Amino acid sequence: EVNASGEDMPTYIVGTEAQFPPFEIVDSRGKVVGFDVDLLNAIAEDQGFKVQYLDQDFAGLIPALQTGNIDIIASGMTITEEREQEVDFSEPYITAGLALAVPINNEEIQSVDDLQGKTVAVQTGSTGFMKAEELKEAGGIAEIKDFPHVNEAIEELKIGGADVMINDLPVTEAFIAAQPDVIKIVGEPLNSESYGFAVRTGNTELLQKINTGLENVKASGQYDELLTNLPKY
Ligand code: GLN
Repeated sequence: EVNASGEDMPTYIVGTEAQFPPFEIVDSRGKVVGFDVDLLNAIAEDQGFKVQYLDQDFAGLIPALQTGNIDIIASGMTITEEREQEVDFSEPYITAGLALAVPINNEEIQSVDDLQGKTVAVQTGSTGFMKAEELKEAGGIAEIKDFPHVNEAIEELKIGGADVMINDLPVTEAFIAAQPDVIKIVGEPLNSESYGFAVRTGNTELLQKINTGLENVKASGQYDELLTNLPKY
């Protein structure tokens, strides 16, 4: 198959941790779907390349990109200065931020000021994890428990193994929408973060395609359409 420039369509392998609704989730047929997937598919179509998704743990995504096992990360990944040292990010494609969540019956923790001596559940390698480490160093929290997937962190809250979870707000909201009786969000968001697609450092050709495609998909109105059709978890 050839693209509009008459080249053979390249296929890029996309790494994602597909338990992160509404950005990526495995549907009932075992297919990876979600906003990141829809957006990258639209970019790929615009730019004449193909994508193939590989579901794997979040903490392994950057190493997999660096060793060449994958070509793109599309995984609700926050653009951070530390990660900029290891990968190249696209222009930001959406804004999110971290928020606290507690078991539904907890009335004690209302904000980040109430975390003294508490145990925090986070996803391994996430910005929530980094925020927890920062709060721990500042003497704010006692213990961090990290899990490969957000639903496992939520499970830990449920069984009383942790007092509070730090996670991306839209994702916690998606879990709550699916299961309203387990946890609730408390306090204000802790920060604002931007997600980007990541490629190997120096892979400017692919980065250019992603950035141009993103611009086109925004300009055409397709981006807004995708945002209004987020998958339900
Ligand atoms: N946005 C967070 C981060 O980049 C969490 C991403 C995720 O778990 N998929 O660390």
